[in-house]
Amino acid sequence: MARTPEKPSIWTDGKRPWDVENSQESLSQNQGAMLEKPISFYRFTQDQLAQYLQGLGKEKFRAQQLYRWVYDQGITDFEQMSNLSKDFRAGLKDQFNFELPEVVTHLKSEDKTEKILFKLYDGNTVEAVIIPSKERLTLCISSEVGCNMACTFCYTGKQKLKRRLFTDEIVGQFVKTEQLIAPQKITNIVFMGMGEPLDNPEAVFKTVEILHNPFGRNFSRKKVTISTSGLVPEMWRIMASHTLLAVSLNGYNDQSRSEIMPINKKYPLATLLHECQKYIQWSKEKVTFEYVLLKGVTDQVEHARQLYHLTKTISCKINIIPFNEHPGSDYQRPSLEQIERFQNELIKLGAHVLLRKTMGRDIYAACGQLTSAAALNKNL
Ligand code: SF4
Repeated sequence: MARTPEKPSIWTDGKRPWDVENSQESLSQNQGAMLEKPISFYRFTQDQLAQYLQGLGKEKFRAQQLYRWVYDQGITDFEQMSNLSKDFRAGLKDQFNFELPEVVTHLKSEDKTEKILFKLYDGNTVEAVIIPSKERLTLCISSEVGCNMACTFCYTGKQKLKRRLFTDEIVGQFVKTEQLIAPQKITNIVFMGMGEPLDNPEAVFKTVEILHNPFGRNFSRKKVTISTSGLVPEMWRIMASHTLLAVSLNGYNDQSRSEIMPINKKYPLATLLHECQKYIQWSKEKVTFEYVLLKGVTDQVEHARQLYHLTKTISCKINIIPFNEHPGSDYQRPSLEQIERFQNELIKLGAHVLLRKTMGRDIYAACGQLTSAAALNKNL
């Protein structure tokens, strides 16, 4: 008889992926509702919007109407929302704003990758990257200003966490990008920009919920990948949100991983891989393991063998990513021959392995190269 997948108890207790007690956003949103108006419309799930409108004495279904106008039609001028009464429209102006992050620079690579530097309301900046491929237009999105995970190969990791983004700032990166590239549409989202997404779960998973809403943008959750450095206690949220899981692995055993990714000391490989197995069992999806090739550090054929043995019982694909240089880094990119040797060893052993084509390297938009400082300091 088939075993029922084990559901995390916190989830069965009725928690949603974005429920986080006493979070920065919940507090400021509550305060905002009392003190600071108008509030960003992009911060509300449909349920939250319905509740908010009910608090103003309006019908619940109005939330659905507003979602259609804003996310499906792209209309943010209440005067143009023809199926709403004049009085209702007039009242909404005082309640909601539609401000989006400001575009500071929009760079285009020779390979058609685009990088956008966004300025947030407080002057902090984050980056998003548009990655085109044959049938896809993927948006790599940021969830934090800086990052506390301090992975040694990552440019963002050199910038300590300044703050976590609010939902409207993450939704805003998406909305603003689609405005910039219209009439094209984003087909996939990867949370692989600045920040550890599971360190900011409320805003990240509310964003997924908002963009997924069928009355609004209707973005498939199976087209959203959440990449984590291995924040194990928060990984259940990826299962609960029905999104795809990518794990930034980058080590072939605990010692090598701990040297590159300090989080491994807290949640070592056995714990991390057990959580991956739970995800696979529950979602029936493969896990993607990201593995950065650092010359002389993680790129040897013996390392490929150990990586294979580490992951062989897990339903996964391995993305190997040759290191992308950034200012101040001691690591080097392996030679093409070494990259091929590593990849061929994994293939020979029977791993499902992909060599990620490096995109946007000339504009510092490639994996591990994002930072808020780069463009502002005119390092590009
Ligand atoms: S790789 Fe990801 S988790 Fe690690 S420091 Fe960079 S942004 Fe943070």
